[in-house]
Amino acid sequence: MTSADGATPSVAPSEGALSNRILLGLLLGALCGIAANLFLVPRVPEAVEAANRWVFVPVGQIFLRMLFMVVIPLVFSSLALGVASLGDLKRLGRIGARTMSFFVLVTACSVGIGLVLVNTMRPGEGLPQETREKLLETYRGEAASRIVTAEKAEFGPSLLVNIIPKNPVEAAVKGDMLGVIFFALLFGIGVTKLAPEKNALWMKLLEGLADVTVVIIGLALKIAPFGVFGLIFSVTSRFGFDILRQLLLFVVTVLLGLSILVFGVYPLLLKFLAKVNPWAFLRKVRPVMITAFSTSSSNATLPTTIEVSERDLGVPPQIAGFVLPLGATMNMNGTALFEGISCVFLAQVFGVHLSLGQQLFVILLAVLTAIGTAGVPGGSIPLLVLVLTSVGVPAEGIAVIIGVDRLLDMARTVPNVVGDATCAVYVAKKEGFTLKI
Ligand code: ASP
Repeated sequence: MTSADGATPSVAPSEGALSNRILLGLLLGALCGIAANLFLVPRVPEAVEAANRWVFVPVGQIFLRMLFMVVIPLVFSSLALGVASLGDLKRLGRIGARTMSFFVLVTACSVGIGLVLVNTMRPGEGLPQETREKLLETYRGEAASRIVTAEKAEFGPSLLVNIIPKNPVEAAVKGDMLGVIFFALLFGIGVTKLAPEKNALWMKLLEGLADVTVVIIGLALKIAPFGVFGLIFSVTSRFGFDILRQLLLFVVTVLLGLSILVFGVYPLLLKFLAKVNPWAFLRKVRPVMITAFSTSSSNATLPTTIEVSERDLGVPPQIAGFVLPLGATMNMNGTALFEGISCVFLAQVFGVHLSLGQQLFVILLAVLTAIGTAGVPGGSIPLLVLVLTSVGVPAEGIAVIIGVDRLLDMARTVPNVVGDATCAVYVAKKEGFTLKI
């Protein structure tokens, strides 16, 4: 996100003050929320609910909406600008192929790790029958509404055709990110084909648009510590810690898998493929992790991911502008791992045997659905339904896990975005750039 005159408006929490204040908001929000859950909810549940409804949820939502508001112009401008700055189509093709193969291979490897863990730890086999029935009963309504959303999605050729929007404005209005991305890619290519003076004009316009989004995000981040406090407080104070206990082994399996991604797979890729210092990388992407965890949204985290990748990791703007918007929409390693584990867990709970062939099919489905998952809170649940039904696991089974999904969503969004930054570093190194790690 570098402006036309080279001056880059800075938005993301740096390693300094703002980042620490956001972390403080996160920790205080969690602490106060858990305290309210344990001590106030049993005594004055209406007061906690009223505080959430009137204060904490609105404050969190204002922050989230300020970030969501700029996602479409940000994705459009940074992607079109990234493509236009790369200039020659051969180079674009090479970077595109590298990026996509990284996304697909790492996502498939993530599901594989998830399947190994869930088949070894077998969290679904010990779940008592009455717990299962109780969860099915409690979350039936919520599950049903997600299943209705899932029914609108389908596998098949239309999946591919629908990537091309009939109308880019309609795609933007509907939040159809793949459509917006497709249009932005072609727009960027179009700009490279223009005569020099028209090309320069469009580059300036796109840079200007990107800079304006940066300024707006800067405003949003001013209230970030309060927004994060509100988001985390409302989640923790309402959270059913009872369910957490009942589904503990499942939650532990997912969290273990996600930790393996962040502290095992990415460092290995960074060390051996990108040849950079993985621990310096993890230290520098801390603001990205905090933002992802508190917003549960790859899209809302995108501005921070771009800023930190460019400013702190040293990824050049044209690579960050190309890889990261694509990643926020298509590269969901944590989500894919979660889908794989959830599918086999629910098969264990319902006594459905999944053969090796079916589990390999789950890998394929999880990779495809992770690409199609919207980078928003809970974006993967409708697609998880699709995976379940494709291998004969009852769709209403998602009711069993919905009670812990809020927490797992926060956790899986972290590797989703850290994976994007890892890919940006890898591609930048392969293109011969020197980074700051
Ligand atoms: N919340 C996730 C993200 O934005 C998507 C999901 O797994 O639901 O990356």
